[in-house]
Amino acid sequence: MTSLFDDTIAEQYQNDPLAMRVYTSQLLGQSKELVLHGGGNTSVKIDNILYVKGSGWNLDTIEKGGFSPVNLDVLLEMATRETLSDTQMVAEQRAAMADQSYPNPSIEAILHAIIPYDYVDHTHADAVVTLTNTPNAKVLVQKLYGESMLIIDYVMPGFELAKHIYEVTRNIDWDTISGMILMHHGVFTFDNDARRAYEKMIDIVTVAEEYLSERVTLACGDCEGKSDPSLPKAVALEVEKLCGYEVFPLIIDSPRAQLFSILPNLETLVKKGGLTPEHVIRIKPFPAIIDNNIAEGIAHFAKEYKAYFDANASSDHICLDLAPRYVVIKGVGIVVLGKDEKESRIIGEIVKHTITAILSAEQLGGWGSLTLAQMFEMEYWELEQAKLKK
Ligand SMILES: [Zn+2]
Repeated sequence: MTSLFDDTIAEQYQNDPLAMRVYTSQLLGQSKELVLHGGGNTSVKIDNILYVKGSGWNLDTIEKGGFSPVNLDVLLEMATRETLSDTQMVAEQRAAMADQSYPNPSIEAILHAIIPYDYVDHTHADAVVTLTNTPNAKVLVQKLYGESMLIIDYVMPGFELAKHIYEVTRNIDWDTISGMILMHHGVFTFDNDARRAYEKMIDIVTVAEEYLSERVTLACGDCEGKSDPSLPKAVALEVEKLCGYEVFPLIIDSPRAQLFSILPNLETLVKKGGLTPEHVIRIKPFPAIIDNNIAEGIAHFAKEYKAYFDANASSDHICLDLAPRYVVIKGVGIVVLGKDEKESRIIGEIVKHTITAILSAEQLGGWGSLTLAQMFEMEYWELEQAKLKK
């Protein structure tokens, strides 16, 4: 991928690090293969304040008001704690804000604070995450990027991840580190120069993209181009019985979606995790699969979803509705089911990126991301459950 950094535009921000932070954050956000819908986050450190992406903001449209100012020393002290619930972390981060009118800082704020550079960029780059979701991924990624790349095993985002990275990096010489790849999750780059932090990201992603393009072809020779305009509505009617609200169905019947729908190992494959952890909150841990009978496929999903909940929940978890957020129809493609058009388009985009990643990894030895237990940990995270209990 190519850098979108434009010197003539950037020049006006030279003496305003926060404006420069806004500029390169928007550049990251413009590339859907780097971040989707609220994914990823960025920060800049100015005079002992960490300005970090606030919740509710997307990188492509972020402005100065989207960067919450948090006291850097407080965040660094939090990293040294033995334990801290994510609820408590959010409350303490909020209390450490220099101005309470800003949104809640990203749950990755402590992690940004630990990295000792002014500019920190974090994305969920498709190409890199795809590579981390293949067999022997750690060895592959380390070989591809060399010893200077810090590879971090999967840990649930939030305090646990910040704590883990604090421990792992306590005695390292940061100047010898070219970036950080989080298995099954994403990439961090950093520099005291905004452009270099951004372009390090572009370089890392380019390496993964080239690796993939040399080894993966996503053409669909067997796709028949079947289409049935009545399908989305028919699926929606079945799903509405389960979730109890109206859904806005959209069909994805591209050759790629058809190729995905006819994978022989589809049933097992869709239970091997998503592209990046947080997507589970929007699309659930797996889709419904419909062979011929729509009602049967949806009912089967409800049964499997309940079994997944029962296998992982403790007594205080509240089960979400039993309706799928997307449905794979064999030989046809995919129907996405948001509660309105906006949500369906978001789900559709996440699904398109996810199936591309899965199809690619399948050609590199086999897709494998998070386990269902790890997906549950994210989907039923205390901060998500708190929203339900409100
Ligand atoms: Zn992330």
